[in-house]
Amino acid sequence: MGDSADKWTVLRLINWTKDYFERSGVDEPRLSVEVLLGHVLGCPRVSLYTQFDRVVDAEHLKAFRELVRHGADGEPIAYLTGVKEFYSLAIKVTPDVLIPRPETELLVDAVLDYARSRAGEEIRLWDVCTGSGCVAVAAAKHCQTLSVLATDISAPAVAVAVENTEQHGLAGRIRIEQVDLLTWPQTQRPRHPADGGVESFDIITANPPYVTDAEMEHLPESVKQEPAAALRAGPTGLEFITRIISDAPACLKPPPSTGLGTAGLLAMEIGAGQAGRVYDLLGKTDLYENVRFLKDPAGIERVVLADRIAD
Ligand code: GLN
Repeated sequence: MGDSADKWTVLRLINWTKDYFERSGVDEPRLSVEVLLGHVLGCPRVSLYTQFDRVVDAEHLKAFRELVRHGADGEPIAYLTGVKEFYSLAIKVTPDVLIPRPETELLVDAVLDYARSRAGEEIRLWDVCTGSGCVAVAAAKHCQTLSVLATDISAPAVAVAVENTEQHGLAGRIRIEQVDLLTWPQTQRPRHPADGGVESFDIITANPPYVTDAEMEHLPESVKQEPAAALRAGPTGLEFITRIISDAPACLKPPPSTGLGTAGLLAMEIGAGQAGRVYDLLGKTDLYENVRFLKDPAGIERVVLADRIAD
């Protein structure tokens, strides 16, 4: 983007910057350029396609150049724009939260599938490690019968989740609290009229940290800018997953004593190559049945689903 005498049209900017991003190793170069340019011009990305000949004025050009510089330096595009699309919703992000990934949409699919199987009934969801709140927000937005508790150990993440909940008009159905995994004592949890003494949930969702210490060293530059606490699990990668597997049954509803009806569901995102070990961990507890996996678009078993067994 030198001081060319030629005018910088939208199309010329896109093409030039796409090549520059490609050379700088930015992920999805063309999409990233379009997202940044749409952000600077204050219009949806797709509407750039009807403005290819628009000449970008000096002020917008300056703002765009600045973002491009940061992007080429490996700063995640979503942190530059402050927003990431997830389940077709605009989710606010800051460097305090993990940027929502497309594969995490599988968790929302699992919640909505479950809710469909119990159409009309109130469904109670606990979204653990909620981060930006993307799963809680997307699920509640698409299912009117859902009431949600969303928790995270990080105070700044909780603040972002609260903003997203308000932004999407869901503050009435999503409650956000700062809690470490599933350790919130029952006595401190908000009570629900339906609870006979013990508060329990129909579904627990979680996208916990699952990256091993060794993998942390080899993450792409832009992922290294995301909060390590949301990614790093420890030497095995299964440290948080293991805790959630042991603690979830006590928080999930058992299947109805008639034997008919739906049991509480654990739906958790896992890392590539962890499915076999996660299957074994769930089996060892004798507290789950029907363990199954959802594959992400790359064919990786990305989300584990398990039903809580009867007491
Ligand atoms: N999927 C994320 C990544 O590849 C990891 C998310 C997580 O640890 N929960 O960077």
